[in-house]
Amino acid sequence: GGFESLGLSSNVFRAIKRKGYKVPTPIQRKTMPLILAGADVVAMARTGSGKTAAFLVPMIERLCQHTPQSGARALVLSPTRDLALQTLKFAKELGRFTDLRISLLVGGDSMESQFEELAQSPDIIIATPGRLMHHLSEVDDMSLRTVEYVVFDEADCLFGMGFAEQLHKILAQLSENRQTLLFSATLPSALAEFAKAGLRDPQLVRL
Ligand code: AMP
Repeated sequence: GGFESLGLSSNVFRAIKRKGYKVPTPIQRKTMPLILAGADVVAMARTGSGKTAAFLVPMIERLCQHTPQSGARALVLSPTRDLALQTLKFAKELGRFTDLRISLLVGGDSMESQFEELAQSPDIIIATPGRLMHHLSEVDDMSLRTVEYVVFDEADCLFGMGFAEQLHKILAQLSENRQTLLFSATLPSALAEFAKAGLRDPQLVRL
């Protein structure tokens, strides 16, 4: 199974080739078909395994297949500003042949400039949990109900950094008709409990 066997649209396939990726990494080979088929997935994957593209490629494929709607359609939660920035860079590269709009909501940047970005109605939000919660509390009409695709990236770090309560609050604001992905190097029991609460019959992928 190379990338060509995934049935990706040409916009996405071209962006992968432009990145210089020739064959999927093992975690990509195992997760992408499941994610593209719409399953919730818990993937045990470390940084360096190609995990970011494993969730970004199916995300961009899905967003450019279906008709546009108003409101954000995908949400990626990252434990740190640095990881969020790196994910933004990847998402821009993999989405370069689409007109998907992406907003970054992380601490350290001004709320004002992020309000302006949100006013442009992004398709994708890449956020740290603290800053996302801050926006949700400040902006009355901001809603996560339109989000169809949610990724908890480096979920063990998200939990380890004390974001558990915020993550449960974010879950509660999401629509039930969403696809949820959790990528983590380890699966401590608190995280397994969270996955049980937040994911629907998840497929567990390990290398
Ligand atoms: P990540 O685990 O997402 O942090 O990715 C680690 C590195 O692997 C990044 O530099 C990616 O650009 C690169 N990468 C991801 N997928 C592939 C692939 N299929 N072929 C070659 N490099 C890749």
